[in-house]
Amino acid sequence: MKYQNTLQFAQQQDKEDKLSYLRNRFHIPKDKKGNNWLYFTGNSLGLQPKATKEYIQQELDDWANYGVEGHFEAKNPWMPYHEFLTGNMAKIVGAKPIEVVVMNTLTTNLHLLMVSFYRPTKTKYKIVIESDAFPSDRYAVQSQLKFHGFSEEDVIEWKPRKGEELLNIDDLETIVSEQGDEIALLLIGGVNYYTGQYLDLKRIAEIGHSKDCVVGIDLAHGAGNISPELHNSGVDFAAWCTYKYLNSGPGSLGGLFVHEKHSKNKDLPRFAGWWNHNKDTRFNMRQPFDVMDGAEGWQLSNPPILSMAAIKASLDMFAEVGMEALREKSEKLTGYFEFLINQIGSEDIKIITPSNPKERGCQLSIQVKNADKSLHKKLTENNIITDWREPDVIRCAPTPMYNSFEDVYRMVNSLSSILSEGKEV
Ligand SMILES: *Cc1c(COP(=O)(O)O)cnc(C)c1O
Repeated sequence: MKYQNTLQFAQQQDKEDKLSYLRNRFHIPKDKKGNNWLYFTGNSLGLQPKATKEYIQQELDDWANYGVEGHFEAKNPWMPYHEFLTGNMAKIVGAKPIEVVVMNTLTTNLHLLMVSFYRPTKTKYKIVIESDAFPSDRYAVQSQLKFHGFSEEDVIEWKPRKGEELLNIDDLETIVSEQGDEIALLLIGGVNYYTGQYLDLKRIAEIGHSKDCVVGIDLAHGAGNISPELHNSGVDFAAWCTYKYLNSGPGSLGGLFVHEKHSKNKDLPRFAGWWNHNKDTRFNMRQPFDVMDGAEGWQLSNPPILSMAAIKASLDMFAEVGMEALREKSEKLTGYFEFLINQIGSEDIKIITPSNPKERGCQLSIQVKNADKSLHKKLTENNIITDWREPDVIRCAPTPMYNSFEDVYRMVNSLSSILSEGKEV
C-alpha cells in the first residue's frame, strides 16, 4: 500500500474504509471543550460500545421483573448465559466451542489452569516465561513454584539477544533443547504487552511438546487484536482478558481455552465447584462430583451476569464484523502509523515493534531516546491518550474498531511538533 503524509490522504482513507461506521457505535471521550480525545489505549482499556448500556439494562430489568426466576425467564436466561458468549468468543481466538469458556479474571484463570497443567515432579519443574513478561504473569508463576515447594529462581527467562528488544524463537528452541528435561511448563505472552511482538504460537507449541513440556499462552494483548488460531496452534491452554481489545469494561471477566485434546480427560487434577459439575444433575444437589467436558469443566461459580452482558454487547459486534475484516483494516491502519512515524525522520525515535505485519497486532511501541514522562504529559495535553512505559517507550494502539486514519495522522503530527519544540530549547 502506498501511503501519503497528508491530512487529505488520511481523510480519504477514512472515506474508503468499509468499517468506518463502527466508530460511531462507541463513546469517544472528550476534553472539557468537547473535542474528541485521540484514544490509543485500547490495549489497556477498550472504549465503551454505545450498545453496552442496553445489554446491561436488559439484565437489570429482568432481575427487577423476575427476581430468581430470571435464571429461566429472563430474555437471555441467566442459567446458560455464558453459553451465549462461547461461540463468538471461540471464533475470535480460532477455537472450537468445546475449548472456550468465559469466566473469572485473567490471573485467576492462569492459576486455575496451572492447577491442572503445571504438574511438577522432583526433576521436571521449571517454568519458562519471557524476560519481559507482564508482572501479574511473573508473580503468578513464581507463586506456583513456591506453592509446590520450589523457588522463584526456578523461572527460566527467554530473553532478547544483547542489544535487541525482540524475542528470537530460535533462542526458545535452544532453551528447551538444552534444559527441557527440567522444564514442566512454558507460559508465554502470545503478543508481548511491551513490544507488541506477536509470536508464532504453533512453533512455541512444537518446541514445548518436543520435550514434553506443557504450553500455555497469555493472550491478553492478542484477543480481539490478532487471529491466533488457538486450536490449530496445538497449545494446551490459554487465557485472556476482555477489557482490552474486547471492549467489555474495567475488570470484566476473562476467557479461557483448553485444547480439545484435554477436553475429556477427567483425570486432570483440578479444583471443583458446582459450576463445573454436570449441568444435568447440578441442581439435584447431593450428587457426587461429575466434571463436565471441555473448558466449562474449569468453572467454579455461577457467573456475574452484568459483566457477561457487557461482554455479549462487544462479542455481538465482533461477530457482525468478523476478525478477518478487522485484521485487514488493522494492518493498513498500523502500517500508516508506522509510515508516518518513519517520516518524522528522527534518529531519536525507534519503533521496537516488529515491522512485519504478521508479527504484530495494532500496537506500536515507540522508543524515544532521552525522553521522559513529560513527553507523555504533553501528548495528553494535546488530547492524545497513549500509554507510557518506563524508561522511554510510548505504547500506542490504533484499533480498527474505533480509530481512524485521521486519528493516526493527527497523533503523529503532534508527536512530531512536540519533539521538534524540545530541540529548539
Ligand atoms: C492486562 C494483563 C493482565 C491483567 O490481569 P488481570 O488478572 O486481568 O488483572 C495479566 N497479564 C497480561 C499479559 C496482561 O496484558
